[in-house]
Amino acid sequence: MVNPQVFKISSKNVVLPDVETPQAAVITVNIDTGKIVDIERGTENHSSQGDIQVIDVGTKFVLPGVVDAHVHLNEPGRTDWEGFWTGTRAAISGGITTVVDMPLNSIPPTTTLENFHLKKASAEGQCWADVAFWGGAIPGNQKDLKPLIAAGVKGFKCFLIESGVEEFPCVDEHDLRNHLEQLQGEPTVLLFHAELEGSPCSTEETLPLNPTHYETFLSSRPDSLEVNAISLITRLQEEYPSLRCHIVHLSSSYALPIIRAAKSRGLKLTVETCFHYLCLFAGMIPNGHPEFKCCPPIRDDNNRELLWQALVDGTIDFVVSDHSPCITELKKLEEGDVMGAWGGISSLGLGLSLLWTEGRKRGVTMNHIMSWVSRKTAEHAGLSETKGSIAIGYDADLVIWDPEAEFKVSVESLYFKNKLSAFEGMTLRGVVLQTFLRGSVVYDGVKKSFDAVGPRGKLL
Ligand SMILES: [Zn+2]
Repeated sequence: MVNPQVFKISSKNVVLPDVETPQAAVITVNIDTGKIVDIERGTENHSSQGDIQVIDVGTKFVLPGVVDAHVHLNEPGRTDWEGFWTGTRAAISGGITTVVDMPLNSIPPTTTLENFHLKKASAEGQCWADVAFWGGAIPGNQKDLKPLIAAGVKGFKCFLIESGVEEFPCVDEHDLRNHLEQLQGEPTVLLFHAELEGSPCSTEETLPLNPTHYETFLSSRPDSLEVNAISLITRLQEEYPSLRCHIVHLSSSYALPIIRAAKSRGLKLTVETCFHYLCLFAGMIPNGHPEFKCCPPIRDDNNRELLWQALVDGTIDFVVSDHSPCITELKKLEEGDVMGAWGGISSLGLGLSLLWTEGRKRGVTMNHIMSWVSRKTAEHAGLSETKGSIAIGYDADLVIWDPEAEFKVSVESLYFKNKLSAFEGMTLRGVVLQTFLRGSVVYDGVKKSFDAVGPRGKLL
């Protein structure tokens, strides 16, 4: 008789949170609770132990499920751009078991309690991964923030530059002070889209530049925008030191000295970068290809190497996708209009393979990668008691991973709604064989099949 309570997963290469490299271990999962109940280190099992089923994956890696802390699912309101169903299927296909949804590009945005209830209602029953939510801080909604925290949003995102959608306006320093007053002492975090325009006279460029050239777009979003924004944020942090502030999608290495100085002064500042800033660079982007457009922009190769160094030395805390798709028409592919196109790169499901492909060239281990995409992102989103680590008492969100297999990114390998990606055609190393969500196999990468039971994701 098979013991119905638990099963075990055995591997020579389990990525555990407190060591540098994968090691042999056997993980015991309680089927009823979906929790990890035991970990035997330094040992492996090859066969069943009495009544207990043992899944022996040999040398294949066992990873904690990825927690992608920056995803735009856009539902309700712009569900033709992305949605909970397609976005979370793409997530589990890439070993992401938790996504944290951004407050904007859905209509309405997650800026009031009422809007948050609408968002949750539209997510209900559609989520293949677990989903948590960021709220939004816009001019005048400071009184909405505490009710949103009480209702479960994990923090608030604001823009210091136009967001691209009119229902989510940017804040100025005056607005920010109103928000910071409300958020002092609360168990939350304020996230900044950190680009801020300086005085208009500093940009004297008036030459008619070709809108299809990537260089035109790049010169329209110089490093100084990020430097300006991060200078403002760290200055405000001196006045409001109790609240953690967070820089989303850092692209410019010019901001690294300010971040290092702020951290060394003890300011509660955290920073993320994205897969695309670490895996792509301006020199490889052909003109006329708006699928590479995002804000802030992908910069030169030297900048990319400085981001890698900052990630390795801890100046940058972690890595997210910033998956931000739109409908094809808005990408202006036919015209190749980089300047006119919607900015946002789609990559949901590719992140692990992207970081492994590029990271191993730079000597990073899978343990480093998992700390950047799972453990620290879970901490960031207030989920680190149950997510982000293979540890006793944690959710059995696990990924069986083949570190040697390769695949070519093609439309068929993408599960998100609008199948356009800057990474199409690239050959990546590392393939998800199975994704477990709370102990259940929700995606099989060999059969390319999803859980027949349907979506099991919870709203966190
Ligand atoms: Zn974003």
